Amino acid sequence: MTTHLKKRPRLENLSVNHLDELPDDLVISILRKLSSSASSPADFLNILVTCKRLNRLGLHPLVLSRVGTQTLAVTAEKWSVSSHRFLKLCVNAGNVDACYTLGMIRFYCLKNPVSGASLMARAAIKSHAQALYSLSVIQFNGSGGNKSDKNLRAGVALCARSAYLGHVDALRELGHCLQDGYGVSRDVAEGRRLLIQANARELAGYLSLKPGTDLNGGCLPVQEIHPVNRFLKDWFDSGRVVLAEELRMCSHGGCGRPETRSHEFRRCSVCGKVNYCSRGCQALDWRAKHKMECAPLDLWVPAAIEVGDVDAVDVENHAPR
Ligand SMILES: [Zn+2]
Ligand SMILES: [Zn+2]
Repeated sequence: MTTHLKKRPRLENLSVNHLDELPDDLVISILRKLSSSASSPADFLNILVTCKRLNRLGLHPLVLSRVGTQTLAVTAEKWSVSSHRFLKLCVNAGNVDACYTLGMIRFYCLKNPVSGASLMARAAIKSHAQALYSLSVIQFNGSGGNKSDKNLRAGVALCARSAYLGHVDALRELGHCLQDGYGVSRDVAEGRRLLIQANARELAGYLSLKPGTDLNGGCLPVQEIHPVNRFLKDWFDSGRVVLAEELRMCSHGGCGRPETRSHEFRRCSVCGKVNYCSRGCQALDWRAKHKMECAPLDLWVPAAIEVGDVDAVDVENHAPR
């Protein structure tokens, strides 16, 4: 029996670069898809440095307008003039998530609140739920200004729009505002309804997780943390920029927002040891860890004295202010 080996394909065309044969619009369309689905900035930037043509077409506004959240997720460690420029190019191409990302970085990290808030507003106008929520946090706290710059009604309006678009923290914040009559007419029943809805959404998020997902001790926040929150946290944690001594970070690990003036954030009313930029962060951190740590101050002092271990509690430092 004769064995017929398959003929190997002829290799005479190896020197031809097939990329050159593709028309620009087709390459742009492929790059658009790639830039929106890449899992890290490096995945996309490596394509840009491949050759002059890919660099030119990769920086086309049609591509930059579609660059996805993970492709924009520059880390604080790798922040540079070039990454700032890349974000600006994406902003100019009309990329909404780039507007939000650069807006947050300018507002909190680069100490440029006017430009930061204006970029976030550009994203908010295009119904970017995180931008709407972040602007509401800024309005509730009067961030970037004085205490008198707090605008509770504007905070509620932004929060309501973000909640309508599905932002769970915004929904929870709005529920608390209605319950307390904070920036809006008090409506306890409606507030309660929204809080139940927020919990239900969170539960639905847990149930939709794949089996085997690491739940971090049952404390995994269901809403995915936006990469810019990680950027903010790393920016200040790394010591690259030292926060003024009187300013504190939001105690929720997934937030990264710093105070822009002293005593801007709300403090846990029970222990007084932690600070939050919003009720959303407070609720998430409570479930993640603070419920295990929080104890009223006045319970600690007598207990320590009873066992004769006064030095165990620094009474002066823990006194309520
Ligand atoms: Zn926060
Ligand atoms: Zn507490």
